[in-house]
Amino acid sequence: MVRPAACLFDLDGLLLDTEPLHAEAWQQASSHFGRPLAAHELLALRGRRRHDCADQVLQWISNGGASAAPNRETLLAVRQPIAEALLIHAAPMPGAAELVEHCQALGIPMALATSSSKAAVALKASPHPWLSAIRVRVHGDDPLLRRGKPAPDVFLLAAERLGVDPRQCWAFEDSPAGVQAARAAGCRVHVLPPDHLSSEQRQELYPETERFLSSLEEIVGELQ
Ligand SMILES: [Mg+2]
Repeated sequence: MVRPAACLFDLDGLLLDTEPLHAEAWQQASSHFGRPLAAHELLALRGRRRHDCADQVLQWISNGGASAAPNRETLLAVRQPIAEALLIHAAPMPGAAELVEHCQALGIPMALATSSSKAAVALKASPHPWLSAIRVRVHGDDPLLRRGKPAPDVFLLAAERLGVDPRQCWAFEDSPAGVQAARAAGCRVHVLPPDHLSSEQRQELYPETERFLSSLEEIVGELQ
């Protein structure tokens, strides 16, 4: 029988197909200040908290020699309405709803370990009632969270709230920053990489990964 003590789920790009939408919002916001972002830069933003992403984008904008580089608030004020309009339409990743329902049916404890703020999760989750089965949540703006991914804190706090040992947990992640965080917490990490990556890029971006998934549907069949 294959049974983790708990499943710790990332949200963006793992349960919900929000990453292309987040990337589009960063792209539009950065381009607004004269600095379009490259594909590898957009990938580096994945999995990180909004403020951490904003600081990185600001650095790229100012390194690009923009005459009037914005501050964090201005950049986020440009991005916010773009992101909200896009994210409300995020679809579930294939197998995500089935996996959450399967874990619930088996009585496997679950937690959300996300960099997204509580308000952003509420917005994105509103069209997806199946997400309400994951009641224990650590958000990027959680008052008890010290450091965002790639630090392990999000996963450590999620395991603590479930009362389980993080080393007995399965973590599900899509981003290099998130994978680093989950591994540092001691979890067994299942990686669902973006599907446009070549196998060389995968190896480079996710070194020492034990398990790549092509879809969450694989896990539904495996967890009994
Ligand atoms: Mg993610």
